[in-house]
Amino acid sequence: MADLRPAILGGTPLATSPIRLVRPVLPEFATLAADVEQTLISGMVTKGQHLAAFEQAVATHLGVAHAIAVSSCTTGLALVYRALGLNGPVIVPSFTFMATVSALIWAGATPRFVEIDPTTTNIDLDAVRAALTPEVQAIVAVHNFGNPAAIAELEAIATDAGIPLIFDAAHGFGAQYDGRPVGGFGTAECFSLSPTKLLIAGEGGIVATNNDELAHKIRTGREYGNDGKYGSDWAGLNARMAEYNAIMGRYSLEQLEQAARQRSQYAALYWAALFATPGIDFQKVRPNDRCSYKDYSITIEASEFGISRDLLSKALAAEGIDSRAYYDPPVHRHAAYAQFAPAEGSLPKTDWLAQSSLSLPIHSEMEFSTIETVCAAIKRIQLFGEELAARL
Ligand SMILES: *Cc1c(COP(=O)(O)O)cnc(C)c1O
Repeated sequence: MADLRPAILGGTPLATSPIRLVRPVLPEFATLAADVEQTLISGMVTKGQHLAAFEQAVATHLGVAHAIAVSSCTTGLALVYRALGLNGPVIVPSFTFMATVSALIWAGATPRFVEIDPTTTNIDLDAVRAALTPEVQAIVAVHNFGNPAAIAELEAIATDAGIPLIFDAAHGFGAQYDGRPVGGFGTAECFSLSPTKLLIAGEGGIVATNNDELAHKIRTGREYGNDGKYGSDWAGLNARMAEYNAIMGRYSLEQLEQAARQRSQYAALYWAALFATPGIDFQKVRPNDRCSYKDYSITIEASEFGISRDLLSKALAAEGIDSRAYYDPPVHRHAAYAQFAPAEGSLPKTDWLAQSSLSLPIHSEMEFSTIETVCAAIKRIQLFGEELAARL
């Protein structure tokens, strides 16, 4: 009997070893050794052949004219925003990682926060249309958790308004829109290569664009703005990617398709195990799209599930299972952005999702049994919800 009880109520924890939220899959050292050694011998530890090869491989993979490697997605976003001259209001979701917005501030622009569609977790099209006044300079959308945004609709809105559309594609490697990788849409798309994402370079980012002029500006912008003749076309950064990161990225790119396919399988397994549990809902992905599942996030409607998202997360921790409340608080509630927050209560869907969303463990390689353990834990916690709510 005791074993039926959740660990938080005295049962034996279901995870025999801790189940982490994220576990980066990295290439073997032997795979990288020759390239690392050659880099050291050549002395070209930055701006060398591996960077060029990595950029070429990424451009081919994405089917885009320019893939420019930078030091992070955040610097990539800041350079794109700045290169486009954004210095006024920019439409952006609040249900996103803080860097989508911090880069706007670094570029000299200001966020105009809008709602998301809680079923897809992506920017809401009606909210974008409603926020689109003449002073708005651009639209920033996120492929959130790796779920492609409503790209065609957003492109139509931006084209009609005559303003740029930028995608924060930090979660985008592995995601497909109508059967092709995200990356070539809008004015530019910015990817992250940090260890919580599918394609890992250690640290790094990719700016993808089909716009030659913007690409040139990003290439000079990652080099202080240097025009190549020791002058500055514009005020840039040092946002370069070192050779070691490019080497790691190249090998990680070879593992990307496998990682994305496995994550889709894991997501299907989560869904099959949890869809009948009351109060749980799932991110909606359009039938022609593929989510990268950079995160696997469900929502917990406390009134149906029996306990709150936060209590579930705590009970999972007692089982030895890591989970995360992405993104709570949403960006408009962070101290740094309070001055840009809309009137209290005007982003109810964002607030609801921030309070209800729970990201569960997903890795590019994991045992099916790990997911079964997480789901078994969620179900037994739910069965004991009344007792838990009364006790805690
Ligand atoms: C991870 C992430 C970023 C930042 O990426 P870095 O490469 O760490 O700068 C930006 N936006 C979103 C949505 C992210 O998840």
